[in-house]
Amino acid sequence: MTEIILISILYLILSFAIASQAKNSRLSFVQLFLISFFLSPLVGLIFLLKTKKRFSYYVYQYKCPRCKYYFTENYKNCPHCKKDGYKIELKEVKKIMT
Ligand SMILES: [Zn+2]
Repeated sequence: MTEIILISILYLILSFAIASQAKNSRLSFVQLFLISFFLSPLVGLIFLLKTKKRFSYYVYQYKCPRCKYYFTENYKNCPHCKKDGYKIELKEVKKIMT
């Protein structure tokens, strides 16, 4: 009897473990959890691997809205525009690198 409970707990933990990898997948946490729960964690794992996101990462850059120049460092004000006598705050932009 206790074995069934243990297996059920293990089953839930496995389903959660697979669902927690959703950030690497095109599927959401809930979708992966439901697939793992109803179709078994093994199927969930297959889904997770099949829907794996292509390798990409984000880089933060800082853009000046006046001179449209991109900086990798977050300056308080745009160094280019500062020379011209303007105090322009840089805007953070997320760039997807592939
Ligand atoms: Zn500027």
